[in-house]
Amino acid sequence: MTACEFGAIVDRKRLPTPFQSAKKTPHPLTIRLKEIEMKALLLLEYKQLAVTDFDEPDVAARDVLIQIRACGICGSDIHGYDGSSGRRIPPLVMGHEAAGVVSSVGSEVGGFGVGDHVTFDSTVSCGNCYFCRRGDINLCDNRRVLGVSCGEYRRHGAFAEYVAVPQHICYRLPASLPFEHAAMIEAVSVAVHAANRTPVTLGDTAVVVGSGMIGLLVIQAIRLAGCSTVIAVDLDESRLEKAKLLGADVALKADAVDVPDEVHKLTGGRGADVVLEVVGATQTIKAAVACARKGGMLTLIGNLAPTVEMPLQAIVTRELSVFGSCASSGEYPACIDLLEKGAIRVEPLITAKASLEEGPDWFSRLYQGEAGAMKVILDPTL
Ligand SMILES: [Zn+2]
Ligand SMILES: [Zn+2]
Repeated sequence: MTACEFGAIVDRKRLPTPFQSAKKTPHPLTIRLKEIEMKALLLLEYKQLAVTDFDEPDVAARDVLIQIRACGICGSDIHGYDGSSGRRIPPLVMGHEAAGVVSSVGSEVGGFGVGDHVTFDSTVSCGNCYFCRRGDINLCDNRRVLGVSCGEYRRHGAFAEYVAVPQHICYRLPASLPFEHAAMIEAVSVAVHAANRTPVTLGDTAVVVGSGMIGLLVIQAIRLAGCSTVIAVDLDESRLEKAKLLGADVALKADAVDVPDEVHKLTGGRGADVVLEVVGATQTIKAAVACARKGGMLTLIGNLAPTVEMPLQAIVTRELSVFGSCASSGEYPACIDLLEKGAIRVEPLITAKASLEEGPDWFSRLYQGEAGAMKVILDPTL
């Protein structure tokens, strides 16, 4: 499970049953713009994907219909693909990391027009609950992730020619930003949110435990937040090379060196001011705690395991501040700006761009753990 999926809380009373037909009953306010079908990559059964004809989404009064030009395959899609996460119950069109072009707008939409390049938050927040009204949209009581069906709701996603989303989760993109970069904004926003959650003082030293997709973005975000030294940790040599390419000062191979020892050597024996953990397992969390200086900050982003063993006494007696960080909350405009200016780079994280038809093959390759593969982006117009 990745951070973008964590903490999905829904109102059970209002939601359809898991096996409700994919065809929805239109809301009274819904305007059916086109009675046509589109191509979509449908999860028919666990581990069985096919490109099929699918009803084009209904566009409600405040919805924007987007022609998808890029949609990334997320780790949470791979975890859902075989049924193990329980969050991709078939039949389902997955896909929540996307960008495209506005193809039509509902009658009450303002600020977006046909032809605009847009991306959207992977999470549909309600806008009305206590948390939404505080601006904590990632903590929304009624949040629904696009491309997820978990028994409590089913919301088809963006591995399709078109998707309709409410305008309040849409963001306009500069025309110069490639769609495949924009499809990475959801992942970038997870990293930027984690950096925003972490109290940093200019000149701090940061350790990032885990240098996968999100870790490589956290490395860049925490440097932008003011850390002058960034130490990357991973088991995989090729990821550590990418970490250095993307600005890590030091890369530590966790099975080759004693990571906390090395961090102490690099920080005058004190330990790092801030540590960000992007794995979510007992061993890596123990290492992260051991890397932090007394009074240091520890931000937890990874949540691979639902429960881990925490070194309680080390946290208490060394007065660490521990922060959880989930998805993002209002960081999309900043992420768009950072990507456009090249302050955060995503190009080295993109393994391939492929058509919807090539999707089933890529899902199975990623599921089998293809070496060196990071983000694969599907473009339904290819
Ligand atoms: Zn995701
Ligand atoms: Zn809400």
